[in-house]
Amino acid sequence: MSTTPASTLAILNQPSRHAPASLDGAAPLRLVDPDAVHIGVRDLGITRGDGIFETIGAVSGTPQALEAHLRRFARSAAALDLPEPDLDTWRAAITAVADSLAGHREAAIKTIYTRGIEGDGRPTGWVHGFASSDFAAARRDGLRVVTLDRGYRHDVASISPWLLQGAKTLSYAVNSAALREAQRRGADDVIFVSSDGVVLEGPTSTVLLLRDGRLVTPGPGLAILDGTTQDSLFAFAAQHGIPTALELTTTEHLHSADAVWLVSSVRHAAPVTAVDGTPRASEADLTAQFNRYLAGRRD
Ligand code: PLP
Repeated sequence: MSTTPASTLAILNQPSRHAPASLDGAAPLRLVDPDAVHIGVRDLGITRGDGIFETIGAVSGTPQALEAHLRRFARSAAALDLPEPDLDTWRAAITAVADSLAGHREAAIKTIYTRGIEGDGRPTGWVHGFASSDFAAARRDGLRVVTLDRGYRHDVASISPWLLQGAKTLSYAVNSAALREAQRRGADDVIFVSSDGVVLEGPTSTVLLLRDGRLVTPGPGLAILDGTTQDSLFAFAAQHGIPTALELTTTEHLHSADAVWLVSSVRHAAPVTAVDGTPRASEADLTAQFNRYLAGRRD
């Protein structure tokens, strides 16, 4: 009888057709022991955080919003001038990893693509999937958030594109530090605000608000990630006749909105129950509908 592994790792031999393969003539991807060591200590992904990633949710072996994640992966690669990823090979690796984890109701699949060993010219790529944590409490009971200044103006992407805001780079140390700051302040998560007072995003999530009967996300033209989960929930809204909009949002809106959520690929929709220590209402029914819809996505 076969058992589902706790995690699965696939290493790509040639993550981009525009760069040499790691090993001449080797198979496009190898499923290897996830607990063994595979990545060189001089890999720029490790030494400089010079690379990109995606985190994709999988339900019973089906990766969710796969094509949207692959498109964003390619956009992040372009922002970092990485060789264009060979999406067919990445898709095959993601599918193989997701398939091996089909025995888990929910899994998370990370695609990692780095510039490789310094001076070598061969990028590194791997896909690692694992059973995801149980997010039932966050989805049901919600999160207390603090707003933190990201230190950039809201239009930083057009003024200073080299800061790579809006690309999903491996340099998430700042995002992790912000989450620790939230914990120090007795909260669960963060909403970043620009230095000129515009609501941006969470360190690992997109902000959604219910305002005047519309489902709103901060935008347009902000230096934030295009969320695949937000996009799915806008599709849900369209099916249910709920108008949607991208709008410049202030911290005042986080208090006055009818509901606020942090949404992301693996945790799905978590209602925000307090902002900077002030409790705020949430919409339990709509939250449950969001999460049923997100769990039911089959592509
Ligand atoms: N914004 C940031 C900074 C993120 O890291 C993430 C996901 O990790 C998101 C937004 C939400 O994106 P998605 O819904 O595609 O998971």
